[in-house]
Amino acid sequence: MSNDRDDNRRAIAEAVDESRLLETAIRLIEIPSFTRDAGAALDALAAILNDEGFAVERVDAGWPSAPAVAARLTSGAAGRTLQFNGHLDTVHLPFTPPAVDDGVLTGSGCSDMKGGVAAAVEAMRALRDTGLLTGGGVLLTAHDLHEAPWGDGSQVDGLIDAGYVGDAVLLPEYLSDRLPNVGRGLAVFEVAVRRDGQPVHEVLGGSEQPSVIHAGAALILALQELDAQLSQLVDPLAGRESVFVGQAHGGEIFNQAPVLLEFSGTRRWLDQTDAIEAKEALLELLHAVAAESNVSVEVNYQIIRDAFRLDARTEFPQAFQRAYTAVAGEPLPVGAKPFVDDANAFIRRGGVPAITHGPNATGAHTVDEKCPVAELVRVAQVYALTAIEFCPGP
Ligand SMILES: [Zn+2]
Repeated sequence: MSNDRDDNRRAIAEAVDESRLLETAIRLIEIPSFTRDAGAALDALAAILNDEGFAVERVDAGWPSAPAVAARLTSGAAGRTLQFNGHLDTVHLPFTPPAVDDGVLTGSGCSDMKGGVAAAVEAMRALRDTGLLTGGGVLLTAHDLHEAPWGDGSQVDGLIDAGYVGDAVLLPEYLSDRLPNVGRGLAVFEVAVRRDGQPVHEVLGGSEQPSVIHAGAALILALQELDAQLSQLVDPLAGRESVFVGQAHGGEIFNQAPVLLEFSGTRRWLDQTDAIEAKEALLELLHAVAAESNVSVEVNYQIIRDAFRLDARTEFPQAFQRAYTAVAGEPLPVGAKPFVDDANAFIRRGGVPAITHGPNATGAHTVDEKCPVAELVRVAQVYALTAIEFCPGP
Protein backbone atom coordinates (compact mmCIF):
# COMPACT_ATOMS: atom_id res chain seq x y z
CA MET A 1 0.00 0.00 0.00
CA SER A 2 2.73 2.49 0.91
CA ASN A 3 4.46 1.75 -2.39
CA ASP A 4 1.17 2.42 -4.18
CA ARG A 5 0.93 5.65 -2.25
CA ASP A 6 4.37 6.72 -3.38
CA ASP A 7 3.54 5.84 -6.99
CA ASN A 8 0.30 7.81 -6.75
CA ARG A 9 2.12 10.81 -5.31
CA ARG A 10 4.62 10.76 -8.17
CA ALA A 11 1.96 10.29 -10.84
CA ILE A 12 -0.19 13.13 -9.48
CA ALA A 13 2.83 15.42 -9.12
CA GLU A 14 3.56 14.80 -12.78
CA ALA A 15 -0.08 15.18 -13.91
CA VAL A 16 -0.78 18.49 -12.14
CA ASP A 17 0.09 21.05 -14.79
CA GLU A 18 1.13 24.40 -13.38
CA SER A 19 0.57 26.44 -16.54
CA ARG A 20 -2.87 24.87 -17.15
CA LEU A 21 -3.82 25.59 -13.53
CA LEU A 22 -2.59 29.17 -13.78
CA GLU A 23 -4.48 29.75 -17.01
CA THR A 24 -7.70 28.64 -15.30
CA ALA A 25 -7.04 30.90 -12.32
CA ILE A 26 -6.40 33.88 -14.59
CA ARG A 27 -9.56 33.26 -16.60
CA LEU A 28 -11.58 33.28 -13.38
CA ILE A 29 -9.85 36.32 -11.87
CA GLU A 30 -10.10 38.50 -14.99
CA ILE A 31 -13.91 38.50 -14.71
CA PRO A 32 -15.05 40.86 -11.92
CA SER A 33 -17.51 38.96 -9.71
CA PHE A 34 -18.53 40.91 -6.67
CA THR A 35 -20.86 39.07 -4.32
CA ARG A 36 -24.42 38.95 -5.79
CA ASP A 37 -22.91 39.39 -9.27
CA ALA A 38 -20.79 36.26 -9.84
CA GLY A 39 -22.84 34.95 -12.78
CA ALA A 40 -20.24 35.67 -15.49
CA ALA A 41 -17.41 34.06 -13.52
CA LEU A 42 -19.59 30.98 -12.91
CA ASP A 43 -20.39 30.89 -16.65
CA ALA A 44 -16.64 30.95 -17.39
CA LEU A 45 -15.99 28.10 -14.96
CA ALA A 46 -18.83 26.06 -16.50
CA ALA A 47 -17.32 26.63 -19.97
CA ILE A 48 -13.85 25.54 -18.79
CA LEU A 49 -15.25 22.35 -17.24
CA ASN A 50 -17.40 21.65 -20.30
CA ASP A 51 -14.41 22.01 -22.61
CA GLU A 52 -12.58 19.50 -20.41
CA GLY A 53 -15.37 17.00 -20.95
CA PHE A 54 -16.73 16.91 -17.41
CA ALA A 55 -20.50 16.56 -16.92
CA VAL A 56 -21.62 20.08 -15.95
CA GLU A 57 -24.96 21.17 -14.50
CA ARG A 58 -26.16 24.63 -13.56
CA VAL A 59 -28.23 24.79 -10.38
CA ASP A 60 -30.19 27.89 -9.34
CA ALA A 61 -30.00 26.98 -5.67
CA GLY A 62 -32.23 29.97 -4.92
CA TRP A 63 -30.16 32.50 -6.91
CA PRO A 64 -31.15 32.30 -10.60
CA SER A 65 -29.14 35.36 -11.67
CA ALA A 66 -25.94 33.40 -11.01
CA PRO A 67 -26.70 29.67 -11.11
CA ALA A 68 -24.19 27.51 -9.26
CA VAL A 69 -21.89 25.14 -11.16
CA ALA A 70 -21.85 21.40 -10.41
CA ALA A 71 -19.40 19.24 -12.36
CA ARG A 72 -18.60 15.57 -11.98
CA LEU A 73 -15.74 13.21 -12.64
CA THR A 74 -16.82 9.60 -12.20
CA SER A 75 -14.56 6.56 -11.97
CA GLY A 76 -17.20 4.32 -13.48
CA ALA A 77 -17.22 2.17 -10.35
CA ALA A 78 -19.45 2.46 -7.30
CA GLY A 79 -18.05 4.28 -4.32
CA ARG A 80 -17.90 7.49 -2.39
CA THR A 81 -18.07 11.01 -3.75
CA LEU A 82 -15.53 13.58 -2.65
CA GLN A 83 -16.76 17.13 -3.17
CA PHE A 84 -14.64 20.21 -3.86
CA ASN A 85 -16.65 23.36 -3.09
CA GLY A 86 -15.72 26.98 -3.66
CA HIS A 87 -17.23 30.42 -4.04
CA LEU A 88 -16.44 32.65 -7.02
CA ASP A 89 -17.80 35.87 -5.52
CA THR A 90 -15.36 38.41 -4.13
CA VAL A 91 -15.70 41.19 -1.55
CA HIS A 92 -16.75 44.63 -2.77
CA LEU A 93 -13.37 46.34 -3.18
CA PRO A 94 -11.88 47.99 -6.30
CA PHE A 95 -11.22 45.34 -8.98
CA THR A 96 -7.61 44.30 -9.57
CA PRO A 97 -6.84 42.35 -12.78
CA PRO A 98 -4.78 39.15 -12.64
CA ALA A 99 -0.99 39.24 -12.93
CA VAL A 100 1.87 36.84 -12.24
CA ASP A 101 5.20 38.11 -11.00
CA ASP A 102 8.08 36.02 -9.70
CA GLY A 103 5.89 32.99 -9.03
CA VAL A 104 3.16 34.93 -7.25
CA LEU A 105 -0.35 35.36 -8.59
CA THR A 106 -2.15 38.61 -7.80
CA GLY A 107 -5.60 40.01 -8.58
CA SER A 108 -9.09 40.13 -7.11
CA GLY A 109 -10.03 36.79 -5.63
CA CYS A 110 -6.68 35.06 -6.22
CA SER A 111 -6.48 34.26 -2.50
CA ASP A 112 -10.19 34.28 -1.72
CA MET A 113 -10.82 32.00 -3.56
CA LYS A 114 -10.54 31.76 -7.34
CA GLY A 115 -6.97 30.45 -7.08
CA GLY A 116 -8.20 27.64 -4.85
CA VAL A 117 -11.08 26.82 -7.21
CA ALA A 118 -8.62 26.64 -10.12
CA ALA A 119 -6.49 24.22 -8.05
CA ALA A 120 -9.58 22.04 -7.45
CA VAL A 121 -10.29 22.03 -11.21
CA GLU A 122 -6.68 21.01 -11.86
CA ALA A 123 -7.01 18.18 -9.30
CA MET A 124 -9.99 16.85 -11.31
CA ARG A 125 -7.97 17.01 -14.53
CA ALA A 126 -5.04 15.19 -12.90
CA LEU A 127 -7.39 12.44 -11.67
CA ARG A 128 -8.91 12.15 -15.13
CA ASP A 129 -5.54 12.11 -16.92
CA THR A 130 -3.97 9.51 -14.60
CA GLY A 131 -7.05 7.28 -14.24
CA LEU A 132 -6.05 6.83 -10.60
CA LEU A 133 -9.59 7.33 -9.29
CA THR A 134 -10.89 3.78 -9.35
CA GLY A 135 -14.01 4.09 -7.17
CA GLY A 136 -16.76 6.68 -6.72
CA GLY A 137 -16.13 10.14 -8.08
CA VAL A 138 -15.48 13.82 -7.55
CA LEU A 139 -18.16 16.53 -7.48
CA LEU A 140 -16.99 20.11 -7.94
CA THR A 141 -19.43 22.86 -6.95
CA ALA A 142 -19.00 26.61 -7.15
CA HIS A 143 -21.40 29.40 -6.22
CA ASP A 144 -22.12 33.04 -5.36
CA LEU A 145 -23.41 34.74 -2.17
CA HIS A 146 -20.54 33.76 0.11
CA GLU A 147 -19.08 37.06 1.28
CA ALA A 148 -20.99 38.88 4.03
CA PRO A 149 -22.61 41.31 4.36
CA TRP A 150 -23.57 41.28 0.64
CA GLY A 151 -24.09 37.53 0.60
CA ASP A 152 -25.90 35.46 3.19
CA GLY A 153 -24.63 31.96 2.39
CA SER A 154 -28.05 31.03 1.05
CA GLN A 155 -26.84 29.67 -2.29
CA VAL A 156 -24.55 27.09 -0.73
CA ASP A 157 -27.40 26.20 1.62
CA GLY A 158 -29.58 25.81 -1.50
CA LEU A 159 -27.00 23.48 -3.06
CA ILE A 160 -26.94 21.38 0.10
CA ASP A 161 -30.74 21.29 0.29
CA ALA A 162 -30.91 20.24 -3.39
CA GLY A 163 -28.65 17.27 -2.63
CA TYR A 164 -25.38 18.54 -4.08
CA VAL A 165 -23.44 17.11 -1.16
CA GLY A 166 -20.63 14.58 -1.39
CA ASP A 167 -19.71 12.07 1.29
CA ALA A 168 -17.06 14.56 2.36
CA VAL A 169 -16.06 18.06 1.25
CA LEU A 170 -12.82 19.99 0.72
CA LEU A 171 -13.00 23.80 0.52
CA PRO A 172 -9.94 25.65 -0.84
CA GLU A 173 -10.10 28.77 1.35
CA TYR A 174 -6.78 30.37 2.33
CA LEU A 175 -6.20 28.27 5.45
CA SER A 176 -3.19 25.99 5.26
CA ASP A 177 -1.47 25.73 8.65
CA ARG A 178 -3.98 23.55 10.52
CA LEU A 179 -6.66 20.95 10.08
CA PRO A 180 -9.70 22.78 11.45
CA ASN A 181 -11.47 20.55 13.95
CA VAL A 182 -13.54 23.16 15.77
CA GLY A 183 -14.97 26.58 15.04
CA ARG A 184 -17.42 29.00 16.58
CA GLY A 185 -20.68 30.00 14.96
CA LEU A 186 -21.27 33.65 14.09
CA ALA A 187 -24.32 35.88 14.05
CA VAL A 188 -24.43 39.63 13.38
CA PHE A 189 -27.05 41.82 15.04
CA GLU A 190 -28.22 45.41 14.53
CA VAL A 191 -30.42 47.07 17.13
CA ALA A 192 -32.52 50.22 16.63
CA VAL A 193 -33.94 51.91 19.75
CA ARG A 194 -36.70 54.42 18.95
CA ARG A 195 -39.19 56.69 20.71
CA ASP A 196 -42.33 58.28 19.30
CA GLY A 197 -42.36 61.92 18.22
CA GLN A 198 -39.79 64.34 16.85
CA PRO A 199 -36.31 65.43 17.96
CA VAL A 200 -36.76 68.31 20.40
CA HIS A 201 -34.55 70.77 22.33
CA GLU A 202 -33.71 69.65 25.83
CA VAL A 203 -35.31 72.78 27.44
CA LEU A 204 -38.41 72.72 25.18
CA GLY A 205 -39.63 69.38 26.52
CA GLY A 206 -36.73 67.23 25.43
CA SER A 207 -35.74 66.28 28.95
CA GLU A 208 -39.27 64.93 29.54
CA GLN A 209 -39.06 62.54 26.57
CA PRO A 210 -38.24 58.84 26.94
CA SER A 211 -34.47 58.67 26.41
CA VAL A 212 -33.25 56.38 23.65
CA ILE A 213 -29.72 57.09 24.92
CA HIS A 214 -30.42 55.78 28.42
CA ALA A 215 -32.41 52.86 27.05
CA GLY A 216 -29.55 52.02 24.66
CA ALA A 217 -27.05 52.20 27.52
CA ALA A 218 -29.21 49.78 29.56
CA LEU A 219 -29.41 47.39 26.62
CA ILE A 220 -25.65 47.48 26.03
CA LEU A 221 -24.98 46.90 29.74
CA ALA A 222 -27.37 43.93 29.69
CA LEU A 223 -25.32 42.51 26.80
CA GLN A 224 -22.15 43.07 28.81
CA GLU A 225 -23.64 40.96 31.63
CA LEU A 226 -24.67 38.30 29.15
CA ASP A 227 -21.13 38.29 27.77
CA ALA A 228 -19.75 37.68 31.27
CA GLN A 229 -22.03 34.63 31.59
CA LEU A 230 -21.10 33.38 28.12
CA SER A 231 -17.40 33.63 28.96
CA GLN A 232 -17.86 30.48 31.07
CA LEU A 233 -18.46 28.47 27.89
CA VAL A 234 -14.96 27.85 26.61
CA ASP A 235 -13.27 25.53 24.15
CA PRO A 236 -9.49 25.28 24.61
CA LEU A 237 -8.87 25.73 20.88
CA ALA A 238 -11.80 27.80 19.59
CA GLY A 239 -12.02 30.18 22.54
CA ARG A 240 -15.13 31.31 24.37
CA GLU A 241 -18.69 32.19 23.54
CA SER A 242 -19.33 35.90 23.39
CA VAL A 243 -21.61 38.78 22.64
CA PHE A 244 -19.73 41.82 21.40
CA VAL A 245 -20.86 45.38 20.62
CA GLY A 246 -18.68 47.01 17.97
CA GLN A 247 -20.47 50.26 17.35
CA ALA A 248 -23.14 52.51 18.85
CA HIS A 249 -24.52 55.79 17.57
CA GLY A 250 -27.24 58.03 18.97
CA GLY A 251 -28.26 61.65 19.00
CA GLU A 252 -27.44 64.65 16.85
CA ILE A 253 -26.29 67.41 19.24
CA PHE A 254 -25.65 67.69 22.98
CA ASN A 255 -28.88 69.44 23.99
CA GLN A 256 -31.46 67.74 21.81
CA ALA A 257 -33.54 64.66 22.70
CA PRO A 258 -33.08 62.26 19.81
CA VAL A 259 -35.54 59.70 18.48
CA LEU A 260 -33.06 57.01 17.48
CA LEU A 261 -30.08 55.11 18.87
CA GLU A 262 -28.48 52.23 16.97
CA PHE A 263 -25.85 49.69 17.92
CA SER A 264 -24.49 46.53 16.35
CA GLY A 265 -22.23 43.62 17.13
CA THR A 266 -21.70 39.88 17.01
CA ARG A 267 -22.71 36.73 18.87
CA ARG A 268 -20.32 33.77 18.71
CA TRP A 269 -21.06 30.33 20.09
CA LEU A 270 -19.66 26.81 20.36
CA ASP A 271 -21.15 23.70 18.82
CA GLN A 272 -22.89 22.54 22.01
CA THR A 273 -25.08 25.66 21.87
CA ASP A 274 -28.14 25.67 19.63
CA ALA A 275 -27.92 28.61 17.20
CA ILE A 276 -31.67 29.33 17.27
CA GLU A 277 -31.87 29.15 21.06
CA ALA A 278 -28.93 31.56 21.31
CA LYS A 279 -30.75 33.96 18.98
CA GLU A 280 -34.02 33.73 20.90
CA ALA A 281 -32.31 34.27 24.25
CA LEU A 282 -30.62 37.43 22.99
CA LEU A 283 -33.84 38.82 21.47
CA GLU A 284 -35.77 38.04 24.66
CA LEU A 285 -33.19 39.82 26.80
CA LEU A 286 -33.23 42.96 24.62
CA HIS A 287 -37.02 43.14 24.54
CA ALA A 288 -37.29 42.58 28.31
CA VAL A 289 -34.84 45.40 29.06
CA ALA A 290 -36.53 47.71 26.52
CA ALA A 291 -39.93 47.05 28.10
CA GLU A 292 -38.69 48.82 31.26
CA SER A 293 -38.47 52.11 29.36
CA ASN A 294 -40.88 53.84 27.01
CA VAL A 295 -39.01 53.03 23.81
CA SER A 296 -39.37 50.46 21.08
CA VAL A 297 -36.64 48.13 20.03
CA GLU A 298 -36.12 46.52 16.64
CA VAL A 299 -33.49 43.81 16.25
CA ASN A 300 -32.13 42.46 13.00
CA TYR A 301 -30.28 39.24 13.93
CA GLN A 302 -28.64 37.31 11.10
CA ILE A 303 -27.06 33.91 11.65
CA ILE A 304 -24.04 33.82 9.31
CA ARG A 305 -22.79 30.24 9.95
CA ASP A 306 -23.33 27.68 12.69
CA ALA A 307 -20.56 26.34 14.93
CA PHE A 308 -18.96 22.98 14.15
CA ARG A 309 -16.74 20.23 15.46
CA LEU A 310 -14.94 17.59 13.40
CA ASP A 311 -13.30 14.54 14.96
CA ALA A 312 -9.87 14.44 13.30
CA ARG A 313 -9.54 10.70 14.08
CA THR A 314 -12.39 9.78 11.73
CA GLU A 315 -12.01 8.42 8.24
CA PHE A 316 -12.15 11.52 6.05
CA PRO A 317 -9.71 13.66 8.06
CA GLN A 318 -7.39 10.64 8.17
CA ALA A 319 -7.60 10.22 4.37
CA PHE A 320 -6.85 13.93 3.99
CA GLN A 321 -3.88 13.67 6.38
CA ARG A 322 -2.39 10.77 4.38
CA ALA A 323 -2.67 12.85 1.21
CA TYR A 324 -1.29 15.95 2.89
CA THR A 325 1.61 13.99 4.38
CA ALA A 326 2.46 12.48 1.00
CA VAL A 327 2.90 15.99 -0.41
CA ALA A 328 4.24 17.94 2.58
CA GLY A 329 6.19 15.24 4.45
CA GLU A 330 4.27 15.48 7.72
CA PRO A 331 0.63 15.75 8.82
CA LEU A 332 -1.09 19.04 9.62
CA PRO A 333 -1.64 19.92 13.27
CA VAL A 334 -5.30 20.21 14.26
CA GLY A 335 -6.56 23.60 15.36
CA ALA A 336 -9.48 25.99 15.51
CA LYS A 337 -10.76 27.72 12.40
CA PRO A 338 -10.68 31.43 13.25
CA PHE A 339 -13.33 32.44 10.69
CA VAL A 340 -16.63 30.95 9.60
CA ASP A 341 -17.02 29.59 6.09
CA ASP A 342 -19.05 27.14 4.04
CA ALA A 343 -17.43 24.10 5.69
CA ASN A 344 -19.58 24.96 8.73
CA ALA A 345 -22.66 24.65 6.50
CA PHE A 346 -21.60 21.30 5.00
CA ILE A 347 -20.93 19.86 8.47
CA ARG A 348 -24.03 21.20 10.21
CA ARG A 349 -26.62 21.48 7.42
CA GLY A 350 -25.25 18.78 5.11
CA GLY A 351 -24.27 16.35 7.85
CA VAL A 352 -20.97 15.39 6.20
CA PRO A 353 -17.35 15.98 7.23
CA ALA A 354 -15.77 19.03 5.60
CA ILE A 355 -12.25 20.45 5.71
CA THR A 356 -11.17 23.95 4.76
CA HIS A 357 -7.73 23.68 3.20
CA GLY A 358 -6.26 25.97 0.58
CA PRO A 359 -3.20 27.90 -0.47
CA ASN A 360 -0.99 29.76 1.98
CA ALA A 361 -2.12 33.01 0.38
CA THR A 362 -2.40 36.50 1.81
CA GLY A 363 -4.45 39.68 1.51
CA ALA A 364 -7.96 38.20 1.59
CA HIS A 365 -10.51 41.03 1.88
CA THR A 366 -7.96 43.63 0.76
CA VAL A 367 -6.95 45.03 -2.65
CA ASP A 368 -3.57 43.32 -2.26
CA GLU A 369 -4.27 39.57 -2.62
CA LYS A 370 -1.17 37.44 -3.24
CA CYS A 371 -1.09 33.72 -3.88
CA PRO A 372 2.12 31.76 -4.58
CA VAL A 373 1.66 29.60 -7.68
CA ALA A 374 3.55 26.75 -5.96
CA GLU A 375 0.86 26.74 -3.28
CA LEU A 376 -1.86 26.25 -5.88
CA VAL A 377 0.08 23.33 -7.33
CA ARG A 378 0.44 21.85 -3.86
CA VAL A 379 -3.29 22.21 -3.15
CA ALA A 380 -4.16 20.54 -6.48
CA GLN A 381 -1.92 17.60 -5.55
CA VAL A 382 -3.38 17.27 -2.04
CA TYR A 383 -6.93 17.40 -3.42
CA ALA A 384 -6.29 14.73 -6.06
CA LEU A 385 -4.52 12.45 -3.58
CA THR A 386 -7.29 12.92 -0.99
CA ALA A 387 -9.82 11.74 -3.61
CA ILE A 388 -7.71 8.62 -4.25
CA GLU A 389 -7.43 7.95 -0.50
CA PHE A 390 -11.10 8.62 0.29
CA CYS A 391 -12.68 6.92 -2.74
CA PRO A 392 -11.02 3.51 -2.95
CA GLY A 393 -11.84 1.22 -5.86
CA PRO A 394 -13.84 -1.97 -5.50
ZN1 LIG B 1 -13.49 32.82 0.64
